[in-house]
Amino acid sequence: MMSEKAGYSLMIHGGAGALDNIRDSDTAVRYLESLRGILEHGRDILGLGGSALEAVEACASLLEDDPVFNAGCGSVLNEDGKVEMDAAIMDGRDLSAGAVAAVDNIANPIQLARLVMTMSEHVLLIAEGAERFAEHCGMERAPENYFYTPDRIEQLKLARLKHKVMLDHDSTEEDSEDQKYGTIGAVAYDMQGNLAAATSTGGIVNKRMGRVGDSPIIGAGVYADNETCAVSATGYGEDFMRTVIAKTISDFVYLKDMDAEEATRAGIEYLRRRVKGRGGVIVIDRNGNCSSGFTTKKMIHGWIEKGGEAVVRF
Ligand code: ASP
Repeated sequence: MMSEKAGYSLMIHGGAGALDNIRDSDTAVRYLESLRGILEHGRDILGLGGSALEAVEACASLLEDDPVFNAGCGSVLNEDGKVEMDAAIMDGRDLSAGAVAAVDNIANPIQLARLVMTMSEHVLLIAEGAERFAEHCGMERAPENYFYTPDRIEQLKLARLKHKVMLDHDSTEEDSEDQKYGTIGAVAYDMQGNLAAATSTGGIVNKRMGRVGDSPIIGAGVYADNETCAVSATGYGEDFMRTVIAKTISDFVYLKDMDAEEATRAGIEYLRRRVKGRGGVIVIDRNGNCSSGFTTKKMIHGWIEKGGEAVVRF
């Protein structure tokens, strides 16, 4: 994924796994068109000199607004049939970061995470505390019915029947190990050479109430440092927390002078070898090079590298 043009770079993802819910071409087109539109929106921001931070927040918000992705209005349901969302954003300029966990009734958790970063002295707020902070910032609450799509209710019923915790768009094959993790994320490199990252999720289907995944944990599901790279992860959060995967990839750049592709490969190898981790990452390094890697069969993602064409894949 290398291009000669200098400028801005942007990557987004919409989950990793078997993706066997995307069997027909109409569904595939639906996903890919959504990614392409969001990438072009990000290009409008970065191409006009907007910041990486602005771009990742805008792209993550649009992904949260699309119900096909497991974040914002498309969030999966927990064991009580409720939505509990996690999100985080990080600015590579000064390592400032904001995150929220186990929130509901917030249409765009990524925007609340940004407010935590800019308007509070904290990095991570959870549940009621985060919601009180949202109110304090004048953020509107989304009505309950904004979140409960028929698909998500059906999916929870299936998980309960199987008596298990399932991941978004679980494989229909009973004993398949490869499932879809539908978290969304964005990483960007702007024309000033700054990096930023954002990740947002509804978590996993039928999860225990109060379960928090990797997405709002700085260094696990998200990381950005101008001196190294920006990373957003999607997959089985417990694996990513145990390997601190986003910071591990950043450390490969910092300590071993790797570029995005080498650091991604090293990070994915570590994830697989140490914990048989399931999922993937998108990475942009300090020179604007884009890379992605995953241990699942597929990952829905797309990128614009150094101002080039938008590419979308799964
Ligand atoms: N990483 C998310 C979590 O474990 C799930 C996902 O990527 O879909 O909460």
